[in-house]
Amino acid sequence: MSKYIFVTGGVVSSLGKGIISASIGKLLQARGYRITIQKFDPYINIDPGTLNPYEHGECYVTADGMETDLDLGHYERFTGIQSTRHNSQTTGRIYQAVIENERRGDYLGHTIQVVPHITDEIKRRIQQLSIVPEGEPANSAYDFIITEIGGTIGDIESAPFLEAIRQLKWELGKDAVCVHLTYVPYLKAAGELKTKPTQHSVKDLQSAGIQPDILILRTEQHLDDHIRRKVAGFCNVDLECVIQSEDLPDIYEVPVNMQKQGLDAAILRKMEIPVGETPKLGPWNHFLELRRTASEVVRIGLVGKYDLQDAYKSISESLSHAATYHHRKVVITFINSEHLDMKLVEKQDGLVICPGFGKRGTEGKIQAAQYAREHDIPCFGICLGMQMMVIEFARNVLGLKDADSTEMNENTKNNVIDLMEDQKNVSQIGGTMRLGAYNCELMEGSRAAVIYDEQLIRERHRHRYEFNNAYLDQFESKGMKASGKNPDADLVEIVEIPTLRWYIGTQFHPEYQSTVLQPHPLFMDFIKAAIKK
Ligand code: GLN
Repeated sequence: MSKYIFVTGGVVSSLGKGIISASIGKLLQARGYRITIQKFDPYINIDPGTLNPYEHGECYVTADGMETDLDLGHYERFTGIQSTRHNSQTTGRIYQAVIENERRGDYLGHTIQVVPHITDEIKRRIQQLSIVPEGEPANSAYDFIITEIGGTIGDIESAPFLEAIRQLKWELGKDAVCVHLTYVPYLKAAGELKTKPTQHSVKDLQSAGIQPDILILRTEQHLDDHIRRKVAGFCNVDLECVIQSEDLPDIYEVPVNMQKQGLDAAILRKMEIPVGETPKLGPWNHFLELRRTASEVVRIGLVGKYDLQDAYKSISESLSHAATYHHRKVVITFINSEHLDMKLVEKQDGLVICPGFGKRGTEGKIQAAQYAREHDIPCFGICLGMQMMVIEFARNVLGLKDADSTEMNENTKNNVIDLMEDQKNVSQIGGTMRLGAYNCELMEGSRAAVIYDEQLIRERHRHRYEFNNAYLDQFESKGMKASGKNPDADLVEIVEIPTLRWYIGTQFHPEYQSTVLQPHPLFMDFIKAAIKK
């Protein structure tokens, strides 16, 4: 039977619940358990696909095509385990399902209420992860289902989730634990660390009927035993279950730090599972060692329109993984494509032309792609970035001065990037793009084929527009090759200019598949080229 770990947060948001959930997953996985991590977001959007990145950072896409919260990216990067659409839930999806059931007549005669209908639907969506998919062996069930509840205790919209957890904890007994993450601020003027906000947050949780089993205290200063004992005493939590999460220079240090304090062992003990030996985390520690000892840097410019570090989270992490394995530190500079600062562009060893939607900032991306092409700077275009490389090439090499994407200019005569055929009748915006993993066949002898060292790959997509094949011959005859194509729909998925050092654009998002222990081959090769330059 699967066991359940709920991760909640209090006092303030942005404490890093996602990193803690991913770390718990990582540590239990290292002990040989089968785990999965799920995120509940309390907002009413069906998925974050319709959200501006300024609201919640990047939108992460699962292999089965769900647009999800960026925390799922952390889960996959830490554990290397792919998530599915069941791993990402929102209040919107839950209400939608309940309302659809009601219209179908499933609850005929009853008044539909938050308790029990919404809470039952939440419980069902947590527990459905324990069901082994048809055709899979029974022993492939998850040992642990880790469910992170977005938002902060006390938020009005979190209440139904807490009630669902309260019920599950009551029903499952020792097979469910709650890990609560809080903040212990340091008051400089008083020279003191303050535990009162944590005590209040735990009281809030208790008044919802939930006793936390484990407390993780986020702090900028080391907490001594006196403080931990005080928190344990006030919150009815065992001392060994009060763990501190001090600020660390690197998120990938968190699992090791949690293991040192016995977080995974405390969870197992609470569930009355034999603890056994502490796993060594060999490859993970090797990765950390490389990061700690790297002294030289590689400079990568991210050309995009969102001046916010979370907007391109998976790309920065992928660059960072790759740089680590080349024993470098990556210095990532955001370069605003709305007013491109050429001095910044010139300083970089490599440029990434970032994904995006809409016209804002696209001319700067085109200008950066042109600079990279003309000066032979390693350049990696991703999704909209690839489309901008194509437009730049059409305008400046093929001489099609008005070349554009119909996303930016509906009336262009040279629509080198155009709406995909099956998108033309789409009227609803949400969840209707080309989403999730598709096959891509690599052209023999191409740079892409050499990098992947494979003929058929699968990568994740999130777009409506595509390369217009009517122009393909013109591009290829002037040196920009389609080196990857979808074998079923003939869509161009990769372009490259083989005569340049490294100039590759992908219609897909390779950054969703780079993990700590398996850095992505495209990012690995791109960083290698940037270092060489
Ligand atoms: N806006 C472009 C499209 O829809 C690119 C999307 C993206 O970069 N994810 O095709």
